[in-house]
Amino acid sequence: MNVMASSMARGACPALHAPMLTGDGYLSRVALTEAISPEQLAAICKLAIEHGNGILDISARGNLQIRGLTLDSAAKLEADVRALDLPLREGLAVEWSPLAGFEKGMDPRPLGLAIMDHARALRGRLAPKLSVVLETNGLIRLDDLLADIRLVATEEAEWTVFLGGTFQTGHVIGSVRDENAALCVAALLDHFASLGPKARGRQIDPATLPQDVLRHLKPITAQAILLRQNPFGPFALGLNLHTLRIALPFGQTKAGTLEEFAKQAEALSIGSIRPAPDHSLLVFANREVCQSLQKVATQLGFVVKADDPLRQIDACPGSPSCNSARLATHAAGRFAAAETSSLFDGSIRLHLSGCGKGCAHPTASPLALVGSENGSHLVFCGKTTDTPIQQLAPGHERAALRALASLIETSRRDGETNHDCLVRLGPGGIAAALGEGP
Ligand code: SF4
Repeated sequence: MNVMASSMARGACPALHAPMLTGDGYLSRVALTEAISPEQLAAICKLAIEHGNGILDISARGNLQIRGLTLDSAAKLEADVRALDLPLREGLAVEWSPLAGFEKGMDPRPLGLAIMDHARALRGRLAPKLSVVLETNGLIRLDDLLADIRLVATEEAEWTVFLGGTFQTGHVIGSVRDENAALCVAALLDHFASLGPKARGRQIDPATLPQDVLRHLKPITAQAILLRQNPFGPFALGLNLHTLRIALPFGQTKAGTLEEFAKQAEALSIGSIRPAPDHSLLVFANREVCQSLQKVATQLGFVVKADDPLRQIDACPGSPSCNSARLATHAAGRFAAAETSSLFDGSIRLHLSGCGKGCAHPTASPLALVGSENGSHLVFCGKTTDTPIQQLAPGHERAALRALASLIETSRRDGETNHDCLVRLGPGGIAAALGEGP
């Protein structure tokens, strides 16, 4: 077992064989390439209770994470998880739609497996957080996930190749025919390895790409498609196949609660279940069974509606779960969703972070409330480490959230989103509405 002795350092990436030290002990990640059975999910939950602190995450990228481990228990967890014979993703993080194999259209899995296979020979020579995203334009897209290498399928049996960033911010370097895609990505990975184990997609200058990469690339002939689909709740995949998509509030649950959900799915004879991006979980069954399980999910406290404000809040474990935390993030998030729901019109994400590390959302957010030594502070359109627009005294977070909601309610002009309104008011206008700092 490799241990992330660098503890909570940026650039580290936990895995089953490489637990990472966090504020509530070691965290191990269980990444899957395929759906699993409800029985296997229930078994993972049991192991989270036996070896960890009984808290389990589904990450923004759709990985299971078991929290509160010791080095000793993480090693036992690894052995026990391996004994479950799961479709584990090892090595390079190559990600594709969690609906692959269930919906029509291009199947990214053979290409993904070929890329992972090639990456095995480069072990130790690639950045630990390096990731490859394969986007096949299905119902659940991975556009917002950061990727060092992104391939987006076009209608011409080609892929558009991006380096770094998201779909919106990545740098397009050309297109590649489907039959050459594995060779092209392999050559890119070789190039990353030649630059050293810190090389990331966003740092690569396309003008310096070697001939081994360039010979597979050609100018773009078809535009990569951007379809904003991201269904939630029950939705149809085919004539007799439906999916239920639910989410864990703040991406986290007690393992016992998820175990109960898995047991109820098993009782309904469901065969396939799969963690998915946006802290969600997919269940594959017919329409009636999906609807029955949605009721179970509601009773267990999971997010089951697309417009639930909880879906627009990112929160790390916070206080009291994490030793570094200065803010009870989940309590603040539940308050925001229940009492200031007018904030969440779909244009704003609220990031609640127990400290400046920003584990739940490392990139910029429209609004971030960050726990600090003397209370908390509010960052507008930035990361948790960016300059705050207002310092809040301890315990003033709820009043600040109410003031923000009320500011928007009284200031928003016709046709404006909440985000547009805050941008127009600017940091000064927002800070003034929050009143004096401590
Ligand atoms: S961001 Fe949250 S989970 Fe991460 S170290 Fe800080 S308090 Fe802990």
